[in-house]
Amino acid sequence: MRLLRSTDLALRVLMRLAVAAATDNPTTKQVSADMDVPYTHAAKIVAELQRLGLVDARRGRGGGLSLTERGRAASVGTVVRAFEGDDDVVECEGANPCPLRSGCRLRGALRTAQEAFFAALDPLTVADMVADPTGPLLLGIPRTRAAAGD
Ligand code: SF4
Repeated sequence: MRLLRSTDLALRVLMRLAVAAATDNPTTKQVSADMDVPYTHAAKIVAELQRLGLVDARRGRGGGLSLTERGRAASVGTVVRAFEGDDDVVECEGANPCPLRSGCRLRGALRTAQEAFFAALDPLTVADMVADPTGPLLLGIPRTRAAAGD
């Protein structure tokens, strides 16, 4: 199973914010540059993470992005489900619907496998993702000097 690019980018943004110092909250521009996420994608992802209550964004001097408590404790499985949506891993319906769709055993098995994939990510929290060695690696990435205030 392959994750949507937006799901992976959302997890990257969350990891970057998970290692941000409380007094040094990065802007969306800084996060996008640090994590090699195109700015337009990063802006949309940050908006969705805000909507989910995982990220707080403050404008102006001393502002920036920060993880909420809920965001730090969020399970990776929940984040992945939120970004992946409810789509099946194969397109049974759509423009060219499969003739077996009304009674396909494989379809049910694939749904079970998909849920098992998400469930395997449930025990891991956003905070867990930046435990050693990932956190130190993130802290070692040269910080961008991108302008604040986006
Ligand atoms: S064979 Fe089954 S799982 Fe595959 S597209 Fe058709 S209905 Fe869906």
